[in-house]
Amino acid sequence: MPIYNFICNECGEKFEQLCRISWQGTVTCPACKQTDVKKVISLISSHGRSGGDSSECSGKSCSGCSGCK
Ligand SMILES: [Zn+2]
Repeated sequence: MPIYNFICNECGEKFEQLCRISWQGTVTCPACKQTDVKKVISLISSHGRSGGDSSECSGKSCSGCSGCK
């Protein structure tokens, strides 16, 4: 199960959360309780993902990466 890193767009808090691969829920910042957070793919390899797009992902919100949508 991959660990996703999140950065809060409101206060800049960085935190981690375990997520299922198909997880598409919302994440709440633990510091300010806002849900305006962006997901950053961690360096921990995630099993079950086809292709090698994780190596192409900059870790920011790119449109071409399945992990960033
Ligand atoms: Zn926050």
